[in-house]
Amino acid sequence: ARASSARNIIKPEFKFEDMGIGGLDAEFGDIFRRAFASRIFPPSLVEKLGIQHVKGMLLYGPPGTGKTLIARQIGKMLNARDPVVVNGPEVLNKFVGQSEENIRKLFAEAEKEYKAKGDDSSLHIIIFDELDAICRQRGAKSDSTGVGDSVVNQLLAKLDGVDQLNNILVIGMTNRKELIDEALLRPGRLEVHMEIGLPDEHGRLQILKIHTSQMRSNGVMGPDVNLEELALLTKNFSGAEINGLVRSASSFAFNRHVKVGTMAGVSSDVENLKVLQDDFVHALGEVKPAFGVADDELQ
Ligand code: ATP
Repeated sequence: ARASSARNIIKPEFKFEDMGIGGLDAEFGDIFRRAFASRIFPPSLVEKLGIQHVKGMLLYGPPGTGKTLIARQIGKMLNARDPVVVNGPEVLNKFVGQSEENIRKLFAEAEKEYKAKGDDSSLHIIIFDELDAICRQRGAKSDSTGVGDSVVNQLLAKLDGVDQLNNILVIGMTNRKELIDEALLRPGRLEVHMEIGLPDEHGRLQILKIHTSQMRSNGVMGPDVNLEELALLTKNFSGAEINGLVRSASSFAFNRHVKVGTMAGVSSDVENLKVLQDDFVHALGEVKPAFGVADDELQ
């Protein structure tokens, strides 16, 4: 086997806090240890251990919880090329009859580069969003076309074929892990599985801080806004929904500066706009979590 030339490819200036991901420190730490710590081992150690880098992982959990954010940040952290993002349903629908060819093409560039250089110095990340659309259990009744089957087979062939390809990381994402073909989740394939769930209160506070950081540093957030209280009130919200809440609160604040009855009449004091706690409270009446049941709704 070709010796791995793993090197310290993590950017020295990299800081977790700067990634703009809230409430997922533990998950990110786990992913780091399980999926790509070996990529920063000294090459001699990787050789001594006789291990290969992890080639794939699966991030699963409800929508809008930060799976795409994590996948992209991993790429930045490892100084990888811009990830290729593939949308599952697109692979199936947009190029009917060519899906296998598309999968092959996805890996072609990484393969070419690896053959030319023979090392892992430039990592290629391939992200499969909505992986369940293409990688359902083979032979599943719902997939009567059989297109999915051949795509899974092609993907398996690629993952197995890249045994000596140290410059590839495939990241699959899904809201429905149970639908994914198990063959794809075995060691050597998408072997690291990480659930990215809804944030807890502490996580929600971090996410609120992230999404209000701009208005806070620009002095546009009212002094009465209590993010701790909002973290309590946003039970079952995903990160994307918290982002939506901040957007909604901003629009309520803006609305106070629009003269009633005249859509054109934005009052001149709009420059002094502040987003207040009340705006967030109004927003809570508008933005509701899609998943989970609030405690007080449980009988
Ligand atoms: P889907 O399953 O729908 O693809 P996802 O889990 O990939 O969802 P993202 O696309 O990562 O979700 O999140 C959507 C947006 O929601 C992000 O761009 C970000 O603004 C916000 N967001 C989600 N989770 C977090 C988080 N943990 N911290 C900060 N922002 C978040």
